[in-house]
Amino acid sequence: MAGKKNVFVFIEQNDKKIAEVSLELVCEAKRLADKLNVDVQAIAIGHDMRDELNLLGHYGCSIVYYIDEQRLSDFTSFPYAKIIVDMIKKHEPRIVLFGASATGRDVAPRVASELKCGLTADCTELEIGDYKAKGKTYNNILLQIRPAFGGNIIATIVSPESMPSMATVREGVMKMSEPDSSLTVEIVDEKSEINDEWFLTEIIEICREERSFDLKSSQIVVSAGMGACNPESLELVKKLADTLGGVVGSSRPVVDSGQLIKDHQVGQTGVTVRPNLYIACGISGQIQHRAGMTDSKRIIAINNDPNAPIFNIAHYGIVGEVNDVIPKMIKAYKAKA
Ligand SMILES: Cc1cc2nc3c(=O)[nH]c(=O)nc-3n(C[C@H](O)[C@H](O)[C@H](O)COP(=O)(O)OP(=O)(O)OC[C@H]3O[C@@H](n4cnc5c(N)ncnc54)[C@H](O)[C@@H]3O)c2cc1C
Repeated sequence: MAGKKNVFVFIEQNDKKIAEVSLELVCEAKRLADKLNVDVQAIAIGHDMRDELNLLGHYGCSIVYYIDEQRLSDFTSFPYAKIIVDMIKKHEPRIVLFGASATGRDVAPRVASELKCGLTADCTELEIGDYKAKGKTYNNILLQIRPAFGGNIIATIVSPESMPSMATVREGVMKMSEPDSSLTVEIVDEKSEINDEWFLTEIIEICREERSFDLKSSQIVVSAGMGACNPESLELVKKLADTLGGVVGSSRPVVDSGQLIKDHQVGQTGVTVRPNLYIACGISGQIQHRAGMTDSKRIIAINNDPNAPIFNIAHYGIVGEVNDVIPKMIKAYKAKA
């Protein structure tokens, strides 16, 4: 495998369970690695996770370099960054992917700064391609694609002169492939010279707030925009979601107004969803919102402006007032159910 310059994924874990974003990144890394004719490999740090790591094989990861150490059971910035840097120096990947989670956003810049290599945050797309600059052509490099300038442009960012290319990607952005349980991963135990002085902080207790709903995995999302941002309309949006067995999403200004909590927000700075059905109620369809829902299988838009951009991506468009249309939808659904 040496000299092959593989695609690496940093495996994030919570309570010894691999974070979903890491599995999504393994799937995306596999797609990129196939284009480059290299392998997907991973770095995992934690304790007592051997069984869990086998899951990585089902998504196409061939080797996971595993640092098993009790003191590293929970994420701690400094030691984790040091170990990832050591692993990258040792195995020399060409690409390293991190989740754009609290953990990834903390550790990836530390690693990039130590290795003096490029890092693009919050990518929404990754590709392999060529890049020409100053009379030079760089072949098969990572094209890191993300919205820029407040989402007004989509920028392709490259870091051709430093290795590896590194990117963070938010949860839910990359599609998961179907797991294949016949595929296996080789778990390679790695040792790292862990220095007591690296542990600058001590984790005393971890408190996690359970989510009462799962927007990302729901197959039906009914979202409220500013056209439904009043108590009466929001009640109707919730009623429609309940009737259909779905969950409530929203645009960002609705969250900013304090009517719904941030967990409901769909879009570039919220959650990315791909439900079977997405109903946009009073949402104009700005690019930042579309970034989080455009891959929904069926989109129904309700808007009183026939020229609203949401109609350009909706499979079914209803021009009308939210408060008139939603009760009719509920009635029609109940009559058929
Ligand atoms: C860096 C950045 C990140 C962002 N991230 C996100 C994000 O993650 N998610 C997100 O959603 N936005 C995000 N935004 C904001 C985004 O640009 C838009 O401002 C936002 O999506 C608009 O929300 P909206 O469609 O609910 O409101 P509006 O654009 O105000 O649209 C309201 C719509 O409702 C219609 N309407 C009004 N009254 C009614 C009625 N009674 N019945 C039916 N229709 C009615 C109107 O015709 C209009 O089309 C971001 C912006 C920036 C700069």
